[in-house]
Amino acid sequence: FKQQISKEVMAQTKFFKDFPKKGINFMDLFSITTKPALFRKVIDALKTLIEVEVGRPGEAFNYLVGLEARGFVLGPILAMEYGLPFTAIRKKGKLPGDTIVEEYKLEYGSDACEIQKEVLDQSSRVLILDDLLATGGTLCAAMNLIQKCDGAQVVASVVVFDIPALKGRDKLTKACHALISLD
Ligand code: AMP
Repeated sequence: FKQQISKEVMAQTKFFKDFPKKGINFMDLFSITTKPALFRKVIDALKTLIEVEVGRPGEAFNYLVGLEARGFVLGPILAMEYGLPFTAIRKKGKLPGDTIVEEYKLEYGSDACEIQKEVLDQSSRVLILDDLLATGGTLCAAMNLIQKCDGAQVVASVVVFDIPALKGRDKLTKACHALISLD
């Protein structure tokens, strides 16, 4: 099923060369969400991917966490379909109340992401959602952050696109399942 959805999505998804900087081919998730029939197919394909490669919602995982910003587009839709809770990991300084912080290195300098303190606990088995896996730095930080949350466990992550050439998975301690590989 991945082959068919890949073909359809790649034919209709816009990418922007050299955005936001030179050398990056930016895959524009909003060129999917602006086409309702295509967006529906992508959501259904993600559900199939999750059920085949991760397991049954509510059993294999019981919490969805989305990464800023395009994980906020995908995560809540799946959470509503599954009747499971959703929360966000954001860049530092954007979430109210007490938070848990994870700092991570970038090519130049560092960045930090955070999650609200009391949302996850030892009963949380988390599936992380984002639009794209590139170098893996973002997902790696998110996985580390969740592991700091009161005994919560990361089950896996799911993305629409990955770029296998960048070897992002090498940084990750848990599986990342992608619908479409960009070679
Ligand atoms: P990385 O930490 O290098 O794996 O980058 C992944 C994060 O950056 C995700 O949150 C993506 O939304 C964003 N990102 C990186 N590269 C791209 C790209 N080519 N197209 C769209 N988003 C990207």
